[in-house]
Amino acid sequence: MNKLSIKDLDVQGKRVLMRVDFNVPVKEGVVTDDTRITAALPSVNYVLGNGGSLVLMSHFGRPKGKGYEADFSLKPVAARLEQLLGKPVIFGTDCIGAETVAQAQALKAGQVMLVENTRFYKEEEGKAKLADDASDEQKKAAKAEMKVKQKEFAKKLAELGDGEIYCNDAFGSAHRAHASTAIVCQFYKQNAAGFLMEKEIEYLGKALENPKRPFVAIIGGAKISGKIDVVTNLMNKCDAILIGGGMAYTFYKAMGKAIGKSLCEDDKVELAGEILKQAKAKNVRLLLPIDNIEADGFSAEANTKVVGENIDEGWMALDIGPKTIELYCNEVAGAKTVVWNGPMGCFEMAPFAKGTFAVCEAVAKSDSISIIGGGDSVAAVNLSGVADQMSHVSTGGGASLEFMEGKQLPGVVALTDK
Ligand code: AMP
Repeated sequence: MNKLSIKDLDVQGKRVLMRVDFNVPVKEGVVTDDTRITAALPSVNYVLGNGGSLVLMSHFGRPKGKGYEADFSLKPVAARLEQLLGKPVIFGTDCIGAETVAQAQALKAGQVMLVENTRFYKEEEGKAKLADDASDEQKKAAKAEMKVKQKEFAKKLAELGDGEIYCNDAFGSAHRAHASTAIVCQFYKQNAAGFLMEKEIEYLGKALENPKRPFVAIIGGAKISGKIDVVTNLMNKCDAILIGGGMAYTFYKAMGKAIGKSLCEDDKVELAGEILKQAKAKNVRLLLPIDNIEADGFSAEANTKVVGENIDEGWMALDIGPKTIELYCNEVAGAKTVVWNGPMGCFEMAPFAKGTFAVCEAVAKSDSISIIGGGDSVAAVNLSGVADQMSHVSTGGGASLEFMEGKQLPGVVALTDK
């Protein structure tokens, strides 16, 4: 990685400002899944164990951005962090302002503070509010005004630390140029990746830039529109792309196959056809299901049938079929690098989960560097109980997708080059 890492820095006597992703599920004031908090502990412990003090900030949920809302307070997270660290966590009832900054300044070496949800301020995301009937000129002015406000807000966040070291360990938010993930870096001497961020960039970066071959990508999920750029980018890098999930049937339609009532984005059929042509021209093996599980309704109780590459009138394809499972699992077995994003079928319903879980097990068993890219594929991997057999399970759905699309992530770009 060509970006500074927190482990390269001497944090002794410094008050480090760290962005983490503590956007965890909370029910009735109690954290119900602390995976994301646990994931940040190596970076937190590094600072606290090496003579630094630490101010943590995070977003949490989707408040309105107009100040405090009890439902979106990070207070329950502070309580859970306290249990996990086995030491007190000072809680800042705001994320900016004189009182919070004074609390931060009073921190001693080894002490940690978590400040309140950064999204209580609309400047965090920096989205200008635009009236529907606003002219282009007005929209431009509103956006420019918000940009100035966002920078002012980032400067206030920066005051929480001592201006020496900012650390970003929130990979899941790295694809957004928010105040706490990117803009704040302008006010720090050194901007470093945390351990989690570093691991994400290393795995995803290595897979895309210098993969061990054969390099196989498995792309599934509901819609082609969300993954089109991933497929296009990976086409230049992979030896084979295996397509599954709802997006397969837009490709089917482009090939003139019957798709019944299967998911299809009609406005993307042409694009799907274009991708198929490109794959042929570039000699990339883009594989589509050779058989399917079709159902007569979108329900776990629906009647089901195995069909080939044409779906019956009135039926919908909800999973890949047994021959496709065999084909895809063989591809995976021979791979040295596997990147997987998106389920092969409606795995949330047991009759349509086979394809996803079979691929999951094949990836786990394979002798490859396996990278599971966020969202539903991570849920599937966790459900199948093989998560610990994957090389890397990404914590960032949107961020890992944008990474795979070949886009620069603002939160990574803002870090200091080595
Ligand atoms: P995405 O967020 O694009 O990765 O899509 C994940 C969702 O795609 C899951 O909720 C799946 O149930 C759904 N999905 C996968 N295969 C199909 C299919 N053949 N038809 C409809 N939805 C599907």
